[in-house]
Amino acid sequence: MLRAEILKNFEDQNQTTWDFVIIGGGATGLGTAIEAATRGYKTLLLEQSDFAKSTSSKSTKLVHGGVRYLAQGYVDLVREACKERGLLLQNAPHLTKNLSFVIPIYTWWDKLLYTVGLKFYDLLAGKLSLGKSVPISKSETIKRLPTIKKKGLKGGILYHDGQFDDSRLALNMAQTAIENGATVLNYAKVIKLKKDANGKLNGVIFQDTETSKEFETKTKAIVNATGVFADDINKMDHGTDDKTISPSQGVHIMIDKKFCPTDSAIMIPKTSDGRVLFAVPWHNKIILGTTDTPVKQESLEPKPTEQEINFILETARGYMNPAPTRKDILSVFAGLRPLAATKEGAKTKEVSRSHKVITSESGLVSIIGGKWTTYRKMGEDVVEKAEEIMKVPHKKSNTEHLKIHGYRKDIDYKDPMYYYGTDKEKILELSKEIENGNEIISKEQNIIKAQIVWAVKNEMAINIEDFLSRRTRLLLLDQKEAVRIAPIVAEVMAKELGKDEVWQKNEIESFKNIAEIYHTHI
Ligand SMILES: Cc1cc2nc3c(=O)[nH]c(=O)nc-3n(C[C@H](O)[C@H](O)[C@H](O)COP(=O)(O)OP(=O)(O)OC[C@H]3O[C@@H](n4cnc5c(N)ncnc54)[C@H](O)[C@@H]3O)c2cc1C
Repeated sequence: MLRAEILKNFEDQNQTTWDFVIIGGGATGLGTAIEAATRGYKTLLLEQSDFAKSTSSKSTKLVHGGVRYLAQGYVDLVREACKERGLLLQNAPHLTKNLSFVIPIYTWWDKLLYTVGLKFYDLLAGKLSLGKSVPISKSETIKRLPTIKKKGLKGGILYHDGQFDDSRLALNMAQTAIENGATVLNYAKVIKLKKDANGKLNGVIFQDTETSKEFETKTKAIVNATGVFADDINKMDHGTDDKTISPSQGVHIMIDKKFCPTDSAIMIPKTSDGRVLFAVPWHNKIILGTTDTPVKQESLEPKPTEQEINFILETARGYMNPAPTRKDILSVFAGLRPLAATKEGAKTKEVSRSHKVITSESGLVSIIGGKWTTYRKMGEDVVEKAEEIMKVPHKKSNTEHLKIHGYRKDIDYKDPMYYYGTDKEKILELSKEIENGNEIISKEQNIIKAQIVWAVKNEMAINIEDFLSRRTRLLLLDQKEAVRIAPIVAEVMAKELGKDEVWQKNEIESFKNIAEIYHTHI
């Protein structure tokens, strides 16, 4: 996965005609690339920034059917997501796990309601169920959630869902796509769509954002998988400013594990704004979130608002004791949901999370909405629509049981490098070849120097943020620690990429600016 080599190939073989050019390297685009490549199509994926830089690295990290969507009546969506949840846990066991969730119960009516509701949730998962939901006693609830508010507690409901590492999965998906014949490129922004004399799309122009160099390439189909940026590509296609997407912001805060010192997650089914709030153990910390705030402008680095942070802390205060306060926040991050545009005044939390495939007159196939959990099915649907447009015979999908790069069973979660799956041994081997490769640069996440070199050589990392935010997750887990080790990362990267001290200085500065967004000032 070396960008320079891929870009050189473009210069050498600019006569290539792709079957698919996929715009966007988040969950949806990467899922589509795997789907197209494994069907034997010549596939190119272009991502304007880093893989999963946008929404796909800012999720709640749940592979789930969506208990909340069931309560809203989206039965088909939940059934589909439960199936995909089961498949993903089978196909990427090194990045996903079966997690126990507990809903604390304070009224007998809620106990009845959630017991019945979750039984239905179990039923929808069928043979891919992760385990039965059961009502549990007050003492069992306290055993599983020692910090839960005990006053008025009647018991709990225990159920199962999946959990994952979103950006690590995105990277391993990019590698899976490559292993199946696709070409994928980060920092490659599509700036123009090309059409033939009949007005049908037949190519794209993209820019290597590192050098500003432009490349033109031909294709039979173009997939717009750009999430909240979908309307920008629509505008390139048909020139209008129509809004098909209403972004809705979701914020999470990261806190110490002491606020929920077990392996179970807390699920608060009804917050004051009618959403759910999760406290989920992840990489030895707790993620608390999320919010649902409509925003007017899409952005690659959305900013959490004071109101959202306060809302999360206030809601947690109602259920946790001790409850986290502002000074306990280790990091805060925001992501934008690519929701289908709503009518003025409609509530975003009520917009369906199911995905939609839309085609334009010129043949642009756009996929909007959806969830991380259902990326595989979304890829299947969008490739099938493109096959219709290309007027080629429909090929069978091969992805239901396709193992994701790094696939390894029987994971030891105490191993700080577990999330590399089968790549772990290769990194340890590499650590012997480089000076001080085994040196731990952050005790917080047990990060060793060799991981930086690995990320550059094998995971297309080209800057500090790629490494600290998505190859490892330190920026999301502990903002201050990420800023502290940024100069070390810059130094190792510079050596590997052949960059000088000025580059290092600029890189550290630009990382600090981004990291500022993850910092809550008291
Ligand atoms: C707060 C929050 C929590 C969530 N939690 C969960 C969860 O726990 N479980 C779950 O299943 N789902 C969850 N979701 C939903 C899930 O994260 C999203 O549905 C999914 O990540 C969207 O992926 P995407 O690829 O469609 O969009 P994105 O991740 O936004 O990817 C689109 C990509 O297109 C690129 N792009 C844009 N324009 C161009 C261009 N011109 N050229 C090249 N590339 C371009 C962007 O840079 C971007 O990387 C959550 C969403 C949010 C906001």
